[in-house]
Amino acid sequence: MTENLPDLLAAIPLPALAIDGAERIIAANTDARTLIGQGIEGRNFVTILRQPALIEAVEAVLRDGSPRQCPFLSNDGAQDTSFQVSVRSVPALRVIVLSFLDVTPVEQASKMRRDFVANVSHELRTPLTALMGFIETLRGPARNDAAARDRFLDIMEGEAGRMNRLVGDLLSLSRVEDGERVRPRDQVDLIGLLGLVMRSLKPLADEAGVVLEAEFGDSPVVLTGDSDQLMQVFTNLIENAIKYGASGKRVTVKVVPTDRDPALRAAGVRVHVIDYGPGIDAIHLPRLTERFYRADSHRSRALGGTGLGLAIVKHIITRHRGRLRVESELGEGAQFTVVLPLQIP
Ligand code: ADP
Repeated sequence: MTENLPDLLAAIPLPALAIDGAERIIAANTDARTLIGQGIEGRNFVTILRQPALIEAVEAVLRDGSPRQCPFLSNDGAQDTSFQVSVRSVPALRVIVLSFLDVTPVEQASKMRRDFVANVSHELRTPLTALMGFIETLRGPARNDAAARDRFLDIMEGEAGRMNRLVGDLLSLSRVEDGERVRPRDQVDLIGLLGLVMRSLKPLADEAGVVLEAEFGDSPVVLTGDSDQLMQVFTNLIENAIKYGASGKRVTVKVVPTDRDPALRAAGVRVHVIDYGPGIDAIHLPRLTERFYRADSHRSRALGGTGLGLAIVKHIITRHRGRLRVESELGEGAQFTVVLPLQIP
């Protein structure tokens, strides 16, 4: 009977191997050999599997026959991987069969979720702690000090505003993620949309002493997209350019249509948002679109940033099958380029 084991194991779509009553591995499929090693047949399982939890589980099943589950950790050369191993006895063949289910993606997703919750809690706690502190001060020592009261109320307003922006950005992010698989359908007049965004940001630019320059060319650009979301993309990018690049005194928004964009292999348009401020150190560039990642966290917080703006931008551009490119050198300003296809494939 056991001579058919290799064929049986080959039919299992997971790494799988069989161990006999003498504690030897008597058969393994190709996936198991890739995971655990070549030439494992005929060897004692203890010398091959070597992880205490798994050895204990196998010994227990050999002893009493009831099935067990246990974790197994490995590395595929690029990253650590985790498996859930099922250990079951097959009494008719007098063997036990181990099958290895790869749970790495599940574990990664749950780690991301945990990190995200920890980040959100941390981001909310800071303004909340400040608010609670000021409430206490207003109740106690500053109760009769009108000047202090006004000053504290201003700070409290600022902190409440920060929490409000954070919750708003979190909701945007989750809405964008929800709709990521749905293709946008509006016909969007990109030049009109950019004009609108720039007009709405003019007060902020004026306040920061920044001149907004438009280099839109002469031809209209119409593309398929979600106009609210595209407004959000360009609002976030131009707002960042104004906030972080204010020392450069101007921000340029440039539109360059292309018949065939090499990055998209289709007709597209590039929108460059260019500032002449302090720029971003190259070490930060690859991580800039991660949630809560800040190149200069002190400055971001001082300017009321949530650390979510570019994460939202990235998700929206992905939904539009576009690309986001960031080029910058310290002291040389920053250029954010959005590449969008005219038609979404
Ligand atoms: P925030 O809410 O902190 O602005 P973003 O996701 O919009 O978050 O941006 C992430 C980080 O990228 C910012 O904290 C800032 O450090 C950096 N950054 C973004 N745009 C610029 C820019 N134009 N110049 C310099 N740094 C920038």
